[in-house]
Amino acid sequence: MNKKLFIANWKMNKGLVQSQQFAEELKAHFEKHKGTTDEIVLCPPFTSLEAVHRKLNGTGVKLGAQNVYYESSGAYTGEISCGMLKSCGCEYVITGHSERRRYFNETNAIVNKKVLIALDEGLKPILCIGETLQEHDDKITEAVIDEQLTSCLLHVNIEDIPNVVIAYEPVWAIGTGKNATAHQAESVHNFTRKKLKKLYSEEISLNTRIIYGGSITPENAKELFAPQTINGGLVGGASLEVESFIEIINSAH
Ligand code: PEP
Repeated sequence: MNKKLFIANWKMNKGLVQSQQFAEELKAHFEKHKGTTDEIVLCPPFTSLEAVHRKLNGTGVKLGAQNVYYESSGAYTGEISCGMLKSCGCEYVITGHSERRRYFNETNAIVNKKVLIALDEGLKPILCIGETLQEHDDKITEAVIDEQLTSCLLHVNIEDIPNVVIAYEPVWAIGTGKNATAHQAESVHNFTRKKLKKLYSEEISLNTRIIYGGSITPENAKELFAPQTINGGLVGGASLEVESFIEIINSAH
């Protein structure tokens, strides 16, 4: 798996104009540098999805959403379905981000429903897992990851699992400027692969894309992406500027 996956999570940042500007700049960069060999996904706010999709036309850069609801349609005021995301050009959707778990009370059971409907309706879920600072200090990271994988992947069958991306995002590293070391990330990635082998098969364990997220910057990217088992990154703050996002992508090779 030499081709890495880089996902930009803009969170609740950028209006329509700023989102379009970013996409135009990124397109211009790739046109100048003849594209990229990696897979790149932008996850703007819902309100910019369609416009960003249009701007990205012809670049090979893909589109993802930051969230989705676990029903297909109906009386769920304010929610967004998989079908709606697909109609805006989305291929991916982030599920179980720690900010959703923390501020919107999303449990593993809810995340599981989102993963299942995304797969059912043809979107690729980016399943976020990771321990809090307390859990990290209590040295129960593996137990937490084990439980999150068991619960969030419940009823996900072996045919669908190749469409799932797992993002290991230690909660204490998100938006804090305090990234995990490559060694720490590598150890959790290896644990995750062992768990996937138990749940599915050796082949699935080796081929599932597992990326790291948490305070990735152009400065620490090279070290973080050195281990073979880390297949790319989920980038928050440093994905808001084209230059730093590109620097991160470039430093992975
Ligand atoms: C994220 O939002 O998933 C994230 C990793 O954010 P940051 O890079 O800002 O820590």
